Amino acid sequence: VIALVLVGAAGRMGRAVEEAALASPDFAVKGRVDRADRHPADRGGWSDTLADFAARGDVVVEFSSPEGCRACAELCAARGAALVSGTTGLDAAGEAAIAAAAARVPVLRSANFSLGVAALRRALDAALSALPRDWDIEIVERHHRRKLDSPSGTALLLGADAAASRGLGSGALRQGRSGRTGPRPAAEIGIHAVRGGSWVGDHAVLLAGEGEWLELRHVASDRGAFAHGALAAARFVAEARPGAYTLDDVLSAKGR
Ligand code: NAD
Repeated sequence: VIALVLVGAAGRMGRAVEEAALASPDFAVKGRVDRADRHPADRGGWSDTLADFAARGDVVVEFSSPEGCRACAELCAARGAALVSGTTGLDAAGEAAIAAAAARVPVLRSANFSLGVAALRRALDAALSALPRDWDIEIVERHHRRKLDSPSGTALLLGADAAASRGLGSGALRQGRSGRTGPRPAAEIGIHAVRGGSWVGDHAVLLAGEGEWLELRHVASDRGAFAHGALAAARFVAEARPGAYTLDDVLSAKGR
C-alpha cells in the first residue's frame, strides 16, 4: 500500500484525488495539508505543514499554489518522499526548487494529468507534420471563473509543443490580441484564455489554412480525469529512482 500525503487537500483537485484514492485499494491517505482555515471541523489527519507527515517512502501529491509547490519540493527532498506535482503558473524559483528536488527524490510534474490531453499532444504533433507550415496555429482554452493563472499551464504546454514542432522559440507564443495589431505574422502561435462559470478545462487547438481549418479539442468535464492520472503518476514515482519525470514516462512504462 502506498502512503499518500495530499497538499492542497481541501481544494478542488485535492478532494478529487482523495476521492479517487479511496476507491483504489493500493493507496492509504496518511495526511492532508492545507491552510488552517480550510481544515474541516474534525481535524484528524490534517495539518497546515507538510513537515508533520512527509517521510521516506511516502508519495506527496500536490495541487496547491506556486508557494505550496515550492515548499513541498524542498521538504520532499529533505525527507526522501516522492513528489507528484500539478500546480501551474510556477515562477523561475519554483521551477528551480522542483529541479533541485529531482536530484534527490523522484519528482513527476505535469500541467495536465488527463490521458486525453496526452493523446491530444500526440495528435497535434501528427497533424502538424501532415500539414503545410503556412497553416496558422491558435489555441483557445476555457476554465472556471476561480482559476488564478492565465493562460492555463496546458495551453502553454500545447503552445510549446506546437512551437517546437515548427522550429520556433517561446517568443512565438502570442497571448491575446488587441488594438491595431496589423496582419497576423506567420511565425506566431496565438493563445486565448476564456474564464467563466464552472468549466473544468477545455483546450482547442485550431489549425487554419486557406479555405479550410481543423480543430483538435479536449474537454475535461470532471476533475476525476486529472485525479486518475495523478494516482497513476503516484504509483510510478513510488517505484522510481530519483529524477524528473513526466506523464509520458508513466504512459510508456504502461506499454512495457
Ligand atoms: P483550489 O484553489 O480549489 O485548491 C488549492 C488548495 O491549495 C486550497 O485549498 C488552498 O488553501 C491550498 N493551498 C494553497 N497554498 C497552499 C500552501 N502553501 N500550503 C498548503 N495548502 C495550500 O485550486 P485547484 O482547482 O484544486 O487547483 C490547484 C492547482 O492545480 C492550480 O495551480 C491549478 O492550475 C492546478 N491544476 C492542475 C491540474 C493538472 O492536471 N496538472 C488540473 C487541475 C488544476
